[in-house]
Amino acid sequence: MVLNTLKRLAWLNIMSRKAQERLAHNERRVERRDKMLTHDMTKERATVEEVFDQTTRMVVFDLLNSGVFYELNGVVSSGKEARVYWATNKEGTDLAVKIYLTSSAEFKRGMHKYIEGDPRFKDVKHDTRSLIAVWAQKEFRNLGEAYAAKVRVPKPIAVKSNVVVMEFIGKEGVSAPSLKEQSPDNPEKVYKILVTYLKRLYQKAKIVHGDLSEYNIMMWKGRPVIFDVSQSVSIVHPMADFMLRRDLANLNRFFSRLNVKVYPVEELYKMVVG
Ligand code: ATP
Ligand code: MN
Repeated sequence: MVLNTLKRLAWLNIMSRKAQERLAHNERRVERRDKMLTHDMTKERATVEEVFDQTTRMVVFDLLNSGVFYELNGVVSSGKEARVYWATNKEGTDLAVKIYLTSSAEFKRGMHKYIEGDPRFKDVKHDTRSLIAVWAQKEFRNLGEAYAAKVRVPKPIAVKSNVVVMEFIGKEGVSAPSLKEQSPDNPEKVYKILVTYLKRLYQKAKIVHGDLSEYNIMMWKGRPVIFDVSQSVSIVHPMADFMLRRDLANLNRFFSRLNVKVYPVEELYKMVVG
């Protein structure tokens, strides 16, 4: 109904360009989801088989078997390091299943620095599979710590080897838009909420996001949801301070472009660190 009105407005060419882009973007997402809904699951199984190694397929099978999810519906996002799937459980609740690719060599090189120096992950094995499993555990754990500190993140559900299962942010296989894709109607308020979240993340969860930007924040029901916390580190990590300052600079850059009167970065730093 709302969508139809929007379409009519777009057709009449009286919608802002931004709103038109937003609409087009959402339509593409819905189309992709609809494709998933109508396509044959055997094809999906084929993709899982082509992309993932035997061990990963076993892990997915175990999670299916143990009832963590019931159906793997389709790919939501396909990145260099991980694929995110939309899944549903027996109750019909949407889930996001993030599967790290065990084949990414660049990834292996890249993640070392985050794992070393984090006292939570000393004594880990250093072969690729183990490292990627640690990486997935780290994302799961960071999500849990953030969630417990009342930072809005996808609620973590399960982790096994290189697979993380979490709350699906969005609806029926359509992910909520990132801040990059959809700038908020109330940027002032969203900025304030994010500052509060970063404070909680630092002071309660005792972690630093480390890759915070408009790409790793979704807008859902008018509020920001922070995600992609695999690289987040403990505040005692030698790089934590550098990473925090970079996150804060990113946040201020994005919101000052939306004409929000942002806190001077030093002041913001003190607020967050406490
Ligand atoms: P990239 O390399 O693009 O940053 P990534 O491998 O780090 O990807 P994420 O950033 O965690 O993976 O997720 C990629 C995309 O998948 C997100 O932009 C979002 O659209 C979707 N996504 C991730 N997690 C969820 C979730 N919990 N619910 C809904 N959609 C999600
Ligand atoms: Mn990401």
